[in-house]
Amino acid sequence: MELTFFGASEEVTGSNFLLETPNTKILIDCGLIQGGRFVNPENYEPFPYDVKNIDALFVTHAHIDHTGKIPKLYKEGFRGKIYSTSPTKDFAEQLLVDSEHLLYKDSLEQGRAPIYDLNDITATLKMWEGISYHQKIDMKDFSVEFFDAGHILGSAFIVVTEKATGKSVAFSGDLGNQPAPLVKDTEQLADVDYLLIESTYGDRVHDNPGTRRDRLEDVIEDAMMLNGVLLIPAFAMERTQELLYEMDELVEKGRIPGAPVYVDSPLAIKLTALYKKYSQDPMYFDAEAIEKAKQGGEIFDFPRLRFTLTSEQSKSINEASLPKIIIAGSGMSNGGRILHHELRYLPDPNTTILFIGYQARGTMGRAILDGAPVVRIMGEEIPVRCKMATISGYSAHADQPLLLQWIHPMRQSLKKIFVVHGDVDQMTPFAQKVRDEFAIDTIIPKHGMKVTLD
Ligand SMILES: [Zn+2]
Repeated sequence: MELTFFGASEEVTGSNFLLETPNTKILIDCGLIQGGRFVNPENYEPFPYDVKNIDALFVTHAHIDHTGKIPKLYKEGFRGKIYSTSPTKDFAEQLLVDSEHLLYKDSLEQGRAPIYDLNDITATLKMWEGISYHQKIDMKDFSVEFFDAGHILGSAFIVVTEKATGKSVAFSGDLGNQPAPLVKDTEQLADVDYLLIESTYGDRVHDNPGTRRDRLEDVIEDAMMLNGVLLIPAFAMERTQELLYEMDELVEKGRIPGAPVYVDSPLAIKLTALYKKYSQDPMYFDAEAIEKAKQGGEIFDFPRLRFTLTSEQSKSINEASLPKIIIAGSGMSNGGRILHHELRYLPDPNTTILFIGYQARGTMGRAILDGAPVVRIMGEEIPVRCKMATISGYSAHADQPLLLQWIHPMRQSLKKIFVVHGDVDQMTPFAQKVRDEFAIDTIIPKHGMKVTLD
């Protein structure tokens, strides 16, 4: 079988791999290429292979950098099957529909037709089948199986076996950070010939995730003591649900004061409903979280929690008395409803802004974090006089020790490792570390590189 790297090669976005024999062609992931902007201009180019000849697409998880170009496959003539876990299909539908207006906006700026539209998304979803972990799928020369990656709900790593030779290749997708409150731990894999492994944090060691709930308690207490607003810019998926889950525990145990908590993001609200849908399913949800949900009644539901779906509801948050907590997207303050709240509350010294995720260079979140005295929001100069807090440990990606730990049981069988999905400054030291530790041939493939796996 032959493998070609069409994305996430020396970069973190645009995951796309083609695995083929003379009779069978399958793709793993088909993500949007993102860089400084939501839609990198490269996304407008046609695919570098004939999509009509592809038999099937297998999707590791719902994040846009793994799914964002799937409707473009349909638009260019792909009519094969799409497989993912059922939660991944549900989440991808929400994320694709939500990002469609960004594609449209970008196309206007670029003076080109959008890379796809809502009709393409609808048609794509009709070809998409939700399956379970460990359900074997037969695709001509290949047998394919999904395993729990522990990254976000429904996330998978995928093992493809060539039936004729018995040779196998594992695609890691994104691997989770552990322990995480809602998803299960990443499954272990032992007997695999080839491995593609993500390396987002290949050269990093995360803070202990175990201490973050205590930190959250401290930050909420301090913020409420000021009788002001606690602003939390958060990603709509996983991050928001983890926060709500941990706040729920703190509220139940009476460990934080009873201020209202607003989830002010339509996408986060829709995704939280999907988390609820799967919260009783032991296939996807962490056993402890299921148990707690059973004891404490509804999951993601506690006194004074408010979901503000419409813009009228969102505006009504302004009228609510102090103190209050507002969770809104986007996670890096480069769009979304959080901007309206930042506009209003950043100048107030009694406001606290809490960062729980990575703030990329060039985003407003990063500017605030770096101590900018003034930021520009919707054309207005806004002085930043609020308090600031940061909690790390909410990362959904495995760090270097976890990645190495995951490879360990495979070290006897692996013939070659391909390091993908990382910035070069993370990949290079990680690849070296893997060679040192396991003495396995480890390479960083270039974009478009083709290898024979025999
Ligand atoms: Zn991901």
